[in-house]
Amino acid sequence: AALVTVLMSLGEMATATQSLDQETFEALGIELGYDVQIVSPEDEDRELLESFDIDLEAEELETDDSELQSRPPVVTVMGHVDHGKTKLLDAIRHTDVVAGESGGITQHIGAYQVRVAHEGDSRAITFIDTPGHEAFTAMRARGAKVTDIAILVVAADDGVMPQTVEAINHAQSANVPIVVAVNKVDKPDSNPDKIRAQLTEYNLVAEEYGGDVMFVDVSAKERMNIDKLLEAVLLTADAELELKANPDSDARGVAIEANLDKGRGSVVTALVERGTLRVGDAMVAGQAYGRVRAMFDEHGKSVTEAGPARPVQVLGLTSVPRAGDSFLIAPDDRTARQIADKRAAAERAAQLAKRRKRISLEDFDEALKQGKVDTLNLIIKGDVSGAVEALEDSLNKIDVGEEVQLRIIHRGVGAITQNDVNLATVDNAIILGFNVRPAERVGEMADREGVEIKYYSVIYSAIEDVENAMKGMLKPIY
Ligand code: GDP
Repeated sequence: AALVTVLMSLGEMATATQSLDQETFEALGIELGYDVQIVSPEDEDRELLESFDIDLEAEELETDDSELQSRPPVVTVMGHVDHGKTKLLDAIRHTDVVAGESGGITQHIGAYQVRVAHEGDSRAITFIDTPGHEAFTAMRARGAKVTDIAILVVAADDGVMPQTVEAINHAQSANVPIVVAVNKVDKPDSNPDKIRAQLTEYNLVAEEYGGDVMFVDVSAKERMNIDKLLEAVLLTADAELELKANPDSDARGVAIEANLDKGRGSVVTALVERGTLRVGDAMVAGQAYGRVRAMFDEHGKSVTEAGPARPVQVLGLTSVPRAGDSFLIAPDDRTARQIADKRAAAERAAQLAKRRKRISLEDFDEALKQGKVDTLNLIIKGDVSGAVEALEDSLNKIDVGEEVQLRIIHRGVGAITQNDVNLATVDNAIILGFNVRPAERVGEMADREGVEIKYYSVIYSAIEDVENAMKGMLKPIY
């Protein structure tokens, strides 16, 4: 109440539960004689690590170019349901020249690495073994960028479908290059050319059409052209990405899967991003910590070390991290534990504090005026594709002037999903639902993440709201 009184005297008609912007906090500090510092959770974590003499940024900067070695690309397979993602991951598993000798890739640990013949040599590629963009987006929402290249699977007997478009949107918004696998070409009614033509509409223009995206016709079922597809992945990696890492440092990376196993305790699939992970290391993954007791690869073989882009199952942590949590190696057990404990305490404190509020239509205009945003990102979900298209068309026609941009980052038919909310979180977008509701628990999740969902049953009202927000006429409704 005392703070509210001071705020009032500053001309800010605040209430006790209201969130304030940075400037107001600073003004409040000056008024009361305090030096206010605004710290983001990322900054806070960085400071926490620095207090333990761990400086991730400095490590990165201090790495000399000569210490960098090429590392394998990490690939995620995406595409519409039933277009053959799982089958393709299976077929790729079978191409591994090493696996053939050791009995094959037998364990599903969440990722696997294959070695492929390449220009008289062999090179490795790492695959994330969970097909689809849900895992990809969930990890991105947690700040992890694991995937280097996306293989987009499109069935040649079907064509571009809603989840194909979703996958493209996700990959493009993450700036991840795409290689297209035109699948099921063994089927008599397949039409690979149609796929190439359809995808040009989504900025994926095949090389043979004068573009720069590699398309490979494959049959996951007949295991045909899988080698060509892998070759295309390597070529795309070489052309568009510079994948290098220093193997001679403490390991850093991401927990891509984690679960509690009855017999083995916490089982974490760690993907090493740089450095080398070793048995005996004191690991911190998110809020979980422990000493690496044993590691296993995708062949079920026990290993003692894992270098960049290498996925391994790690045993020995005392609890289970979340998928997408980054991990690092601490100098000793005690430090690992202290870091984990402090992170857990910081999260509890943050949960007690007011929920994060992301952008809403009502405050867009204000944020715009303060120069905080210049683009209104929207996600449109509707019950029928006609309505979604009509809404998108009309929104794109709104004359918004030069300073402001309206970007529809994703559209689709069906209920509002977790995935939509994740995407909205990443891109600070507002979700417009036309005659649809959120899927189970998704509404709660949106609340928690502070993502605004607006519901409409009349296209005109949606357009009017967006137009008003962009022109600064929308008044908050209480
Ligand atoms: P996902 O939902 O994308 O993971 O698709 P699946 O891998 O489960 O494949 C869906 C169906 O398509 C299964 O019945 C597969 O056997 C079949 N399928 C996958 N790839 C091919 C292919 O190359 N040719 C043919 N004829 N069928 C395929």
